[in-house]
Amino acid sequence: PHRPARRPIQELPDELISQIAAGEVVERPASVVRELVDNALDAGARQITVRLQAGGIRLISVEDDGIGILREELPTALKRHATSKIASLNDLEAVDTMGFRGEALAAICSIAEVSVLTRTDEGASHGWLLDGRSGELQPTARSRGTTVEVRELFFATPARRKFLKSESTELAHCIEAVRRHALARPEVGFAIWHEGKLVAQWRAVAPDLAGGEYLLDALRRRLADVLGEEFIEQAVAVNWPADDVPGESALTGGQQRLRVWGFAGVPDAARSRPDWQFAYVNGRFVRDKVITHAARSAYEDVLHGHRQPVYALYVGIDPTRVDVNVHPTKIEVRFRDSREVHQAVRHAVESALAAPRSAQTLPTTT
Ligand code: ADP
Ligand code: MG
Repeated sequence: PHRPARRPIQELPDELISQIAAGEVVERPASVVRELVDNALDAGARQITVRLQAGGIRLISVEDDGIGILREELPTALKRHATSKIASLNDLEAVDTMGFRGEALAAICSIAEVSVLTRTDEGASHGWLLDGRSGELQPTARSRGTTVEVRELFFATPARRKFLKSESTELAHCIEAVRRHALARPEVGFAIWHEGKLVAQWRAVAPDLAGGEYLLDALRRRLADVLGEEFIEQAVAVNWPADDVPGESALTGGQQRLRVWGFAGVPDAARSRPDWQFAYVNGRFVRDKVITHAARSAYEDVLHGHRQPVYALYVGIDPTRVDVNVHPTKIEVRFRDSREVHQAVRHAVESALAAPRSAQTLPTTT
């Protein structure tokens, strides 16, 4: 029988460990865009600008107006397993930020040229530019916020680079990644530039308003902006439980009570492909069988054949009742009680579809 040659067991060098880890997080330029926009949102940004070249392969730059990074912490931000978002197992069990694994920046650094330009408003009179490769720090002018630049993605891992599709396909994936964020965060403005041209822009919706009507109303406007007026004209508002409207904190999951809100298309708006099915848990875009199945079953009696309902549904749940640490890209989650979530989603959508349309016009806040 075949007997493999004995080879020594060795610990891998740090850089290779990061490159292996990067393979899990960064599949293509859009993965980098998603991670950087996550970081901008966690930093409290109200305006996020994404600039791309060659579909993101040559350049991805994400600029935000968030809280920035302190000079003395800047080199740490690029290290593996370094994060400001959790500090203990307790925190891990109640994650209320998009990030928490502390590996995105380190992973990206191991497969691309990265620089970070950032400024806080805590006593800083200028910003700092960190070159990821050399570790060199330089004082530089900028207003509060952070810009992360990622150049020559996969230059160090040509095998990965070969798997990339055409620039236009990669660009489309990058735009889709930003669009998913935009659908969840109407209070944040987004702009995407490619090769110096503005390719998409979604303006922040009434950032000064607060309260429950605001959230559904703001979502309505953002959905119309991103998916088109026809989506919203053919959709009904979902709000469960009905006795209570979600506040702005619901956007990021700062709430304890299970809630479902959003917009669900009328049966006539169904499409042949499930490409307009957006599901979020505590502000995070997810692909989740429980939610998909529950939504589908709400259409059971009104939608026949293989037609796919359209919806943008948002689940708010106590963060201790959902595990987001299932997959490195965090696109999958695990609910502690998936039956409870299934029933809530099904109920929410069913009752929205059953209500007379006149009752579905929400008060507008102007
Ligand atoms: P994670 O997001 O999981 O914490 P990252 O590697 O994405 O890990 O980022 C590491 C740390 O760098 C973050 O915890 C945060 O403190 C800081 N950071 C990254 N991007 C930004 C940003 N745009 N604004 C402010 N801080 C940031
Ligand atoms: Mg992150």
